[in-house]
Amino acid sequence: MKVFLNGSFVDQADAKISVFDHGLLYGDGVFEGIRLYKGCVFKLEEHLERLEKSAKAILLKMPWSRKEISDAVCASCRENGLKDGYIRLIVTRGVGNLGLSHKNCKDPQLIIIADKITLYPQEFYDNGLKIITSPTRRMNPAALPPMVKSLNYLNNILAKADAMQAGCLEAIMLNDQGYVAECTGDNIFIRHGDRWMTPPYHAGALKGITRGAVLELMADMDITVDEVNLTRYEVWTADEMFLTGTAAEVIPVVDVDGRVIGDGTPGAATAKLLDAFHKKVCVDGTMI
Ligand code: PMP
Repeated sequence: MKVFLNGSFVDQADAKISVFDHGLLYGDGVFEGIRLYKGCVFKLEEHLERLEKSAKAILLKMPWSRKEISDAVCASCRENGLKDGYIRLIVTRGVGNLGLSHKNCKDPQLIIIADKITLYPQEFYDNGLKIITSPTRRMNPAALPPMVKSLNYLNNILAKADAMQAGCLEAIMLNDQGYVAECTGDNIFIRHGDRWMTPPYHAGALKGITRGAVLELMADMDITVDEVNLTRYEVWTADEMFLTGTAAEVIPVVDVDGRVIGDGTPGAATAKLLDAFHKKVCVDGTMI
């Protein structure tokens, strides 16, 4: 595999950055996870816009234009002979000293890894996920806004560990007020009767690109989705539930904290949306 590192492709084994990079020392940097479907990078512009906003939020000035990054993403896919895969785009703060100040870091690093993707096993799309609520709260936006996709993912990693310890693959994270924010790497949708709901991103969620794409699909289907604060009660008593994310796409949830969702099988709308999503992925993209 060839990794894009600051303007050139290097062998995987040689893709190295300094131990003084603040990306390593402090998780100081931003990233994106992007899908490649049939030679088409899904929603590349949206991912690059989110990357720019994440960088702006942490005062990281990227010296590359959007076009330069976009070209490098496409070139990385071509270089590795990929038609379908997963692209990890990383911008680190760059080399500094052992102090915290970002001002000592003059040279941000751009890394692009284009690889094959590991998906959730098919059984979870067929039978649905069983998940828990993590005791680990989503961090407060006044501390580090969850809308920033930063290299500092320990909050999510701890909640993911809670899920794994409980024998689950995902966990719901609540915000400081006890409202549902999101899962460790996915956004949440629930249905009560014919009313669909998803937490507003300011409840402490990443503004998921898949979430946005699914909202578009639902609008096309004349389904309105209310962005409202949700408690665990609303989740436990939902008739249907699914999660969205770049890797997961649209995946059904059938059990939360031991409460069965709907009749305990994936909902009909979830299956329809996953189908519609698969039709959309090669249309809303950038050819490599
Ligand atoms: N929330 C978090 C915390 C995430 O890391 C992700 C990305 N895996 C998502 C939600 C889903 O966002 P997207 O649809 O852009 O992948």
